[in-house]
Parts: sequence; C-alpha cells; structure tokens
Amino acid sequence: MDRYKRQKARMVETQLAARGIKDPRVLKAMTTVPRHLFVDEGLIDQAYNDNPLPIGEHQTISQPYIVALMTQALELKGRERILEIGTGSGYQAAILAGLVDRVFSVERIASLATRARKILDQLNCYNVAIRVGDGSFGWKEEAPFDGIVTTAAAPAIPQYLLEQLVPGGKLIIPVGGRDIQDLIKITRNSADINDIKKESLCGCRFVSLIGKSGWSE
Ligand code: SAH
Repeated sequence: MDRYKRQKARMVETQLAARGIKDPRVLKAMTTVPRHLFVDEGLIDQAYNDNPLPIGEHQTISQPYIVALMTQALELKGRERILEIGTGSGYQAAILAGLVDRVFSVERIASLATRARKILDQLNCYNVAIRVGDGSFGWKEEAPFDGIVTTAAAPAIPQYLLEQLVPGGKLIIPVGGRDIQDLIKITRNSADINDIKKESLCGCRFVSLIGKSGWSE
C-alpha cells in the first residue's frame, strides 16, 4: 500500500505540479484517488507512469497529466453537475466525484461501464451515475451541466453537448483527426449556443468517439 502512496505522490509532484497544474483541489484529488485500482492487474506496477494504459476493448485510461489538465480546465468550485463522455476505467469520474456535487458519465461499451461501476462503488463514489449509450447526444434528461468533459476524440464540436451546457459552462474536448487532436476548452457565454469562446490547451492523442458526432466503428 505504502508503495502506491509514494508512487502517487511522486506522480503528482513530477508529472502534474512541475508541468503547471496549480489548482490545489485538483492536485489533492489526484493524490487521493488510487489509480492502480483502475488498471488491469498485470499493469498495476505502471499505474502511476506518465502515459495512458490499455483497459481492454481497445480503449485506454488517459495519462495522469491529461486527466489533471482537463479537470483543472473545468474550473470547479464544488457544487457543479458534470457530464463525462467516455467512462472507460472510471478513473476520471472518480477524480471528478471528489470535486463536484454530481457526475454523470456515459460509456458506449457495457463491459467497461460495469467494471467502472464496481470500482467506483468500492471507493464510495455514489455521486457518479453511469449510463451505457452514445454520449454524443449528451444526457438530455439530466441537462443542463456546468461542465462537460469528453475523453474520446471528435472530428468537430458536437452541437448536442454545447446545447446541454449552462451559460458560463465549459466543454473540454479533443477535436481533430483520428490519430492526433487539439485539446480544446470551449466556454458557452450566453443562451445563444453560437456565442462561445474557444481556447486550445495542448496537442493530444485520444481514442476515437464512436457515434453520431464521432466516427463509425
Ligand atoms: N475517461 C476514461 C478514458 C476512457 S477512453 C478513463 O478515465 O479511463 C474513452 C472511452 O470513450 C472509451 O471507453 C470508449 O469506449 C468511450 N467512447 C467512445 N465513443 C463513445 C461514445 N459515443 N459515447 C460514450 N462513450 C464513448
């Protein structure tokens, strides 16, 4: 146990703080959530390494730095309702769970959603709701959201997601080609969904969003 605690502390210091992750609440969440529970047993020794790892079904758990960067970009204060597209391992959802009021996460692959649910229950993350389906449509019944984080890459900004943001809400999403993308932060300024501010955070490489606003399989 101590070994993971040390590895986690080193990850936060060398991969996150040293690269400009400043939000103390995000750093604390990354220090608290046991990332090694979200990776396959055979990869447990690599859980705190500076890279994504396979989680089965040709999907990955994102690099810790990218998880921290996306979370920080949401500018969370504690009372938000956040939508995540792409539950995957459940790690990003667990980080959000400790930082906001409610997390809604959509995953298209049922086996990944089931596995994530089990780990999140083990960690008492009962404020995370998971649904299986195409997240390109968002989660209309639970909208609007204060922030949306999409952890799979889209060819363009999905309109359904912009529509489900409150004015002032933020959408963090990798946009670009199938192999390489730009991580974009979009702030919806007002009731008009065309009234947005767009900032590029960094280059990135995510697995593809498959569905209505993404690619076909
Ligand atoms: N946030 C995850 C990273 C998952 S990788 C984590 O912390 O581990 C991206 C995930 O998006 C994959 O599990 C993939 O199955 C899922 N995905 C791809 N297209 C999707 C869609 N249209 N709707 C919901 N999930 C999708």
